[in-house]
Amino acid sequence: MIFPSLESDTNGSPFGRQLRDGFTTLRFDPSLEKDFRDYYLEFSRARVQVAVGAVLVLVLVLVGFDYVITSEGGEGDRHNVVRLAFLLPMLGMGILTLFHPDLRSHQQTLFGFGATAFGCASSYIAVTAGVTGATHLFGAVVLLVMFINLFLGLLFHTALMASGTVALVYIAMGALFGLPGEVLFYQTMIVIAAVAIGGVGVYTFEYAVRRGYLESRLLSELAQRDGLTGLYNRRLFDDQMSRMWRQARRECSPVQIILIDIDYFKVFNDLYGHQAGDDCLRKVAETLNAAAKRPLDLCARYGGEEFVLVLSDPPRDYAETLPERLRRQVAALGVPHEGSPVANVVTVSVGVAMVTPGEGRSLAGAVQMADEALYQAKEEGRNRVIFRESFSSITTGSFRAGRGKRSRASDAA
Ligand code: GH3
Ligand code: MG
Ligand code: MG
Repeated sequence: MIFPSLESDTNGSPFGRQLRDGFTTLRFDPSLEKDFRDYYLEFSRARVQVAVGAVLVLVLVLVGFDYVITSEGGEGDRHNVVRLAFLLPMLGMGILTLFHPDLRSHQQTLFGFGATAFGCASSYIAVTAGVTGATHLFGAVVLLVMFINLFLGLLFHTALMASGTVALVYIAMGALFGLPGEVLFYQTMIVIAAVAIGGVGVYTFEYAVRRGYLESRLLSELAQRDGLTGLYNRRLFDDQMSRMWRQARRECSPVQIILIDIDYFKVFNDLYGHQAGDDCLRKVAETLNAAAKRPLDLCARYGGEEFVLVLSDPPRDYAETLPERLRRQVAALGVPHEGSPVANVVTVSVGVAMVTPGEGRSLAGAVQMADEALYQAKEEGRNRVIFRESFSSITTGSFRAGRGKRSRASDAA
């Protein structure tokens, strides 16, 4: 295993859960299976395109070969009729499936049936040649069985069903058309062995791809999350925030940035210990995260004991009441804080900026505005909410000057 710790440290991720629960039957939980199948389709796309192209070339070569070397009305002519009437149209359908968006989503089913039909037609060619003594075409059936399992991008269950059916049809046709008993016996052994070997191959391959899918999804999820609280981390916040900001600018819609900082948290740590501090951070994080209800709402751990909640285009009354509700909810957690001069429980100060992006209003300026509001909340006694709002295009600098406040950032500098 490449990442031994992933299965235990998964922050409740569905990918981690699936890794832990296992998937020896090659089926994920329905919530993941659909996404995996889309991933697998993309993953095997180039390989399948090359494979189908190679079969097309091979069939055309065989058609040309039989056309040139066999006499008119002979065996080769009959084979070419099957090739031209069945195999080439089927390959055409396969190519259409690969490139047509509507058909692509049904690729597994279409290729499963297509490969079975293709295999049965090839079996017919091989058996009818075989009864005349030309047993060399049997090799093509064996190759086809391996090809169906390993190169067609089929998932294990579909591949096994298709290649197994082709093998059984070959054996049945061999008996029906009267292949010599000894020949049929050896060919049966070989074609069943080919199904088994191909089956093991496709199982092992799909298992590895499924594992890789879960691990890569889990890793990218972990890379976006803060390990302690499970909230999005600062990096993800910065990425998402600039995307949200650009969209808000296009739509001329407001963005609300809420910065939340725990009051006297250093004292809390000193008094109750770092472990209790961590527990407290988790509880506060959970409370704040519950407020990020809409798909575009973003809640992240901004720094040590500082959190950020961003709402894009929130309803006016919701935007006005939410920060105060958050402050009250944190206090209502009732985490004792005997060292706090403002309350006997853990409290937060909240700085809110409501900004409509526009000329002269940068994202950094908007975050700074929320930061200034938070600084003011701290200065005015903590455990409170301060709002700042700007719908006009005045700059943050002049806004700040108007308030006569220094930002915490410049204060610290
Ligand atoms: P203020 O009311 O002005 O915000 O005071 P404060 O003590 O909360 O702020 P300060 O910036 O002085 O201290 C923040 C503390 O947060 C210091 C640090 O020990 C603590 N902290 C930061 N990250 C973590 C963490 O992950 N776990 C724990 N337990 N404490 C943390
Ligand atoms: Mg603090
Ligand atoms: Mg702080």
